[in-house]
Amino acid sequence: MTKKTPLVVDVLTLFPGMFKGPFEESLMGRAQQSKLVDVRIHNLRQWSDDERHAKVDDRPFGGGAGMVLQPEPIYRALKSLGALKKTKSKPWVIYLSPQGTVLKQKLAQQLVKRRHLVLICGHYEGIDERVMAWVDEEISIGDFVLTGGELPAMVAWTEPA
Ligand code: SAM
Repeated sequence: MTKKTPLVVDVLTLFPGMFKGPFEESLMGRAQQSKLVDVRIHNLRQWSDDERHAKVDDRPFGGGAGMVLQPEPIYRALKSLGALKKTKSKPWVIYLSPQGTVLKQKLAQQLVKRRHLVLICGHYEGIDERVMAWVDEEISIGDFVLTGGELPAMVAWTEPA
């Protein structure tokens, strides 16, 4: 019998610690122990070019209020995960966004079939618009606005099939 390769989920976040409990307990913990799922949590700050403060936020490129996540650290992160390749097997890049397609069971089932997902968790006023050129799909978990994409990233792909 051939062994199924695990579903790989790379998460880009400013708050890696938020994922500890939910991904270590219950079904998700067991799925990882059984190597059905390989969840890799990455602190986006590791791709910052600001050696002193590992800054990753900036004012929006086209103007506007508040701060957004800079495109450069996200670009470097996606490149290192192979998500900028033009191949069919490249990871599927998702930006969790209140403007995205609202998550339903059918969409969750389609997502897990992709087998390698990269989830970008926004913060502040979101992400720099230039990042959208590298995003394959925007997903919302409902018609409300949260302070960050971490909670959406925990539920978006957890279809048990
Ligand atoms: N004004 C921004 C907008 O409309 O996109 C709000 C940004 S929100 C304060 C910060 C981040 O939280 C977003 O970049 C997104 O990643 C995440 N977020 C907030 N609500 C969400 C939702 N309903 N579904 C998915 N992600 C959400």
